[in-house]
Amino acid sequence: MKKKIIVLGTGFAAFRFIKKINRNLYDVTIVSPRNHFLFTPLLPSTTVGTIEFRSIIEPIRNVAGISFHQSYCTGIDAAEKNISCRDEDTGREYKLGFDYLVIAVGEVTNTFGISGIKENALFLKELSDARKIRTKVIDCFENASLPGISEREKKDFLRFAVCGGGPTGVEFAAELHDFIEEDVKRKYRDLAGYVEIILIEARDSILATFDKKLSEYAMKIFRRQNIVLKTNSLVSEVDKEYIHLKDGTSFKYGLLVWATGNTSTDFVRLSGLETDKRGKIITDGFFRVKNNGGFFDYIYAVGDCASLRDKELPATAQVAQQQGLFLAKYLNKKTGEGKAFNFRNLGMLAYVGNRKALADLPQYKGTGFGTFLFWRSAYLTKLVSFKNKALVLFDWIKTFVSGRDVSNF
Ligand SMILES: Cc1cc2nc3c(=O)[nH]c(=O)nc-3n(C[C@H](O)[C@H](O)[C@H](O)COP(=O)(O)OP(=O)(O)OC[C@H]3O[C@@H](n4cnc5c(N)ncnc54)[C@H](O)[C@@H]3O)c2cc1C
Repeated sequence: MKKKIIVLGTGFAAFRFIKKINRNLYDVTIVSPRNHFLFTPLLPSTTVGTIEFRSIIEPIRNVAGISFHQSYCTGIDAAEKNISCRDEDTGREYKLGFDYLVIAVGEVTNTFGISGIKENALFLKELSDARKIRTKVIDCFENASLPGISEREKKDFLRFAVCGGGPTGVEFAAELHDFIEEDVKRKYRDLAGYVEIILIEARDSILATFDKKLSEYAMKIFRRQNIVLKTNSLVSEVDKEYIHLKDGTSFKYGLLVWATGNTSTDFVRLSGLETDKRGKIITDGFFRVKNNGGFFDYIYAVGDCASLRDKELPATAQVAQQQGLFLAKYLNKKTGEGKAFNFRNLGMLAYVGNRKALADLPQYKGTGFGTFLFWRSAYLTKLVSFKNKALVLFDWIKTFVSGRDVSNF
């Protein structure tokens, strides 16, 4: 009889795992509040319409031979080998039994408990977030276009703040810049002069995980693009109208996007599983979850929510995918443990606007237009299905030829 595997999540780690696990050996059930896989590296491009939303998602039900339940996992009973689940829509609660459990629930955006962030800022983690940002950006322009709006009000509506100088914040600011240069100047001609993009970062540089020269290049490009860089700056509070900084200054904003890194989900925090100081589930080199003095041999954790013993790996899609693939291969093997997981760093890429990108690869560090073409072709090949590759390519051509769509719906 086939053993039953439950996979929690439909992100990078889970999706890679599901694709590789041998379904002749296992019955696979997926539990996730999201019924699709999302290709996050291109998510910032959807916030201004460079790429359309549906072009970067893969419906999970397209994967043959799996069962799927659209729910949150709310608890694990390790001794009884079952999980509790809850569907947000209907409020229905139920339990599922398993032989093996794979936890790949990712993380959520960290607000550091700063007052007003949850209520007033927008995040950039899910497709629904990107949709909210896109609507809000267009609303800011439409509001600023109303009759009787003063010069000062126009400036306030069109002050776009981004908090977090990591890849997500930087790529969103870059996309916003392109939108203003390429579309606002045509479609909201009178407003282009009022727009201001402000990037707030706690450290003294942006893209701090990249090579120092590349990080400096990104700052130079941003300054040239008139993006205001507020480095060494901390947000202390946000209200409906103002962003307050720790240095005592405040300014009005039309939109605030909060992209300051991750923290563990409530589910992980309340799961009773052992976590490290960053709140990640502690695992051994085979992703077996820590259990008192030893490790479970039937509960695993992979991706952003997991911490690999002795190694602090970055919270990236690359790491999550490699871990999901490793675990599937490990469980597919009928005998022997083999070698523990070893991360292979393939490097990092980031888009900085105006058809320029950065590449920080093990053998190559690059900037500029050539790297932008490389960035696009790398992500085009990494998109999962032929359908999405075709859609993204079509979106890029459409944006180049006729600009971004500014309809609000
Ligand atoms: C805008 C953006 C851009 C990025 N760009 C890059 C990039 O260019 N390169 C790169 O390497 N990385 C990038 N990343 C990081 C990358 O997306 C993450 O590291 C990666 O998604 C982690 O994969 P994961 O499977 O651990 O979690 P996720 O992909 O976050 O998936 C978590 C899954 O778990 C589900 N879930 C949550 N709670 C529960 C629950 N209680 N029960 C069941 N399911 C649950 C979620 O719905 C989701 O399906 C980017 C991230 C963002 C947000």
